[in-house]
Amino acid sequence: MFGEILQRFLPKCIPGKMQPSRLKYYPKTNMKTFAPSILDLRRLSSFLFVGCLFGLPLKAAEPGEILPPEVAPKAVRTIAGSPPSDAIILFDGLDLSEWRGPNLGEAKWEVKNDVATVNGTGSIISKKEFADCQLHVEWATPKVVKGDGQDRGNSGIYIQNRYEVQILDSWNNETYHHGSAGSIYKQYAPLANASRPPGEGQTYDIFFHAPRFDPDGRLAKPATITVIHNGVLVQDNVEIKGTTVNSGAPKYTAHPLKMPILLQDHGNPVQFRNIWVRPL
Ligand code: MG
Repeated sequence: MFGEILQRFLPKCIPGKMQPSRLKYYPKTNMKTFAPSILDLRRLSSFLFVGCLFGLPLKAAEPGEILPPEVAPKAVRTIAGSPPSDAIILFDGLDLSEWRGPNLGEAKWEVKNDVATVNGTGSIISKKEFADCQLHVEWATPKVVKGDGQDRGNSGIYIQNRYEVQILDSWNNETYHHGSAGSIYKQYAPLANASRPPGEGQTYDIFFHAPRFDPDGRLAKPATITVIHNGVLVQDNVEIKGTTVNSGAPKYTAHPLKMPILLQDHGNPVQFRNIWVRPL
């Protein structure tokens, strides 16, 4: 008796082709041959929906298909022109309270009209320290052009206080290619010159993975970096060769996983605004 009930109802929950005889179970429907298949698919989807409600794991639809992770991605709110909701704000135009000046003193760059301007008081360094991170920086070289080559609109973002993404006025300004805007200083030239004219706002979006060192101080994994300059990919996941230096070969010196970010005072009044970080 129970077996008959099972035979009568269970096959309706199984796709049509698995039924021994479709017509046997749909004698009064007067539907065409494909109609039971549609009904079966509806029942199957209902079964899966109810299964999900009661916490049954969703199986792969195709052999070998990768199942979705159980943990949902973190929700991050984004508003056009604003930092993501989970970003750490390092400068929003108000003050340089997230930064220190030379010798751990006060950061003394001029802050006016939402902009911080390099003024010869020395490089500034973030109070917070970071390892792997996404970094957004907006900057502009001086509108009034002075100097040539490395002496025109020079600054830089020293990630972990030692790996420089160069800032330079590279608009009609000749210099060595691995020292221009978007370069990893004296290691990698940018893939393209995406520079805007002097005085115009520019952006860097940087994706950095910190180097790892063995307990004995030997390099276990070099740092890698991707840089997007004004929306253009200029560094594509390159391996940093060590501390960026002006002369000689770069080399690594062991340091903690987390280190601060330094903004360079190279003697040119470069401007900054909207600086934020997302630790990765
Ligand atoms: Mg520089």
